[in-house]
Amino acid sequence: MSCVKKFLCVSCPVGCSLSVTVEGAEVLSVEGNTCPLGEKYARSEVANPVRTFTSTVRVNGGLLPLCPTRSKTPLPLSKVFDVAREVAQLTVDAPIEIGATLIKNVCGTGSDIVASRSLPRKHRDSRELENSA
Ligand code: SF4
Repeated sequence: MSCVKKFLCVSCPVGCSLSVTVEGAEVLSVEGNTCPLGEKYARSEVANPVRTFTSTVRVNGGLLPLCPTRSKTPLPLSKVFDVAREVAQLTVDAPIEIGATLIKNVCGTGSDIVASRSLPRKHRDSRELENSA
């Protein structure tokens, strides 16, 4: 028995509303897309939805107490809560360089959690913080 699922295509800022007719795991049709990327996105959302994960981690000795992080690549939506729990338990030591890997292969997803910004030690001149942003 088929059903219709609604998605918002996030492949570009237009944000087309997609109506996707699905039977089991099979996509029968995609409507509402104004370019081929919309159909590709809808099929991906049905088969294996993924998200880029963003969060913060606690920092020891940093000029700021938290450092923003993200997943290096999109990871399975089904693993997001597991990843959130693992990231919430992490505390790292300053200094941190932007792009530094903080958790490799988080929760076996194949994606790493990386720092989204550099964060110097607390005792450094505040101008270094501005330069590292
Ligand atoms: S269907 Fe095409 S135009 Fe519409 S949001 Fe997706 S990428 Fe953009």
